[in-house]
Amino acid sequence: MTTQRENVRMRLAWRFWLCLILCLVAASCAAVPHTGRRQFNMVSDADLNSLGLKAYREVVQNEPLAKDKRLNEVVARVARRVSQAAESLDKPKFDWEVKLVDKDVPNAVCLPGGKIIVFTGILPYAQNEAGLAAIVGHEIAHAVARHGGERLSQKLALESVIGLSGELLRGKDGKLDQRARIILGALGLGGEIGVILPYSRVHEIEADRIGQIYMAHAGYDPSEYVNLWQRMAKIKKPPIPEWLSTHPTDEERIAKLKENLPNAMKEYGKAPSQFGTGAAL
Ligand SMILES: [Zn+2]
Repeated sequence: MTTQRENVRMRLAWRFWLCLILCLVAASCAAVPHTGRRQFNMVSDADLNSLGLKAYREVVQNEPLAKDKRLNEVVARVARRVSQAAESLDKPKFDWEVKLVDKDVPNAVCLPGGKIIVFTGILPYAQNEAGLAAIVGHEIAHAVARHGGERLSQKLALESVIGLSGELLRGKDGKLDQRARIILGALGLGGEIGVILPYSRVHEIEADRIGQIYMAHAGYDPSEYVNLWQRMAKIKKPPIPEWLSTHPTDEERIAKLKENLPNAMKEYGKAPSQFGTGAAL
């Protein structure tokens, strides 16, 4: 019995170290475009993109698609221009597609692999094509920077650490006593608050910065991103303490967007066509 448990421990320990070494290799290779931040990634593009496609199909099959011809055309045009900008700057080689879903939620998403969903509830905040380009640019930036893969990798690593610690903390009878359970619980919570949440905030700021560059390269005035965020800041949010929030504060985002604006304006100056704020929505 003891030998069997020792074998399990050894196997898990090996798996953990192998995983850690692979992660360190991956981390030293992957850098996020435009920010150069080193990234921890254990999930392949093929796996990530197939998860993205599955999620996209589920939404498209189960949610009502918007019928408004003009709105569909605007959304398709903005998504085409911004995705072309992302392709020309960072070459993600995605299989792009966009759908406008008729649902009153202020949201949009670009899944890994380039499938974009815009909800009609976000259009009043976008107000014009440039506002929509900022939203789509932000979502595309999350996908190109592989933020979903990074989050998944962090969760897998955290699970490995908790799994291995659980094995090491087991008593002679193979069970976890109360002390061991408390330690494991604290490890899980510590990992969530200490690692995963701060990274979510890093991802948001990073997607703002890259998205602002994409919209500018697509020919939309990047100062509209700041205006958009001032409109978005008015959405009522549940009161969450800042240290527990997955998103940076509105003030922090607006300040960072203003800081990045000269950079984005340079990109706008180089754009082959300039549309300003484009058509009103
Ligand atoms: Zn985001």
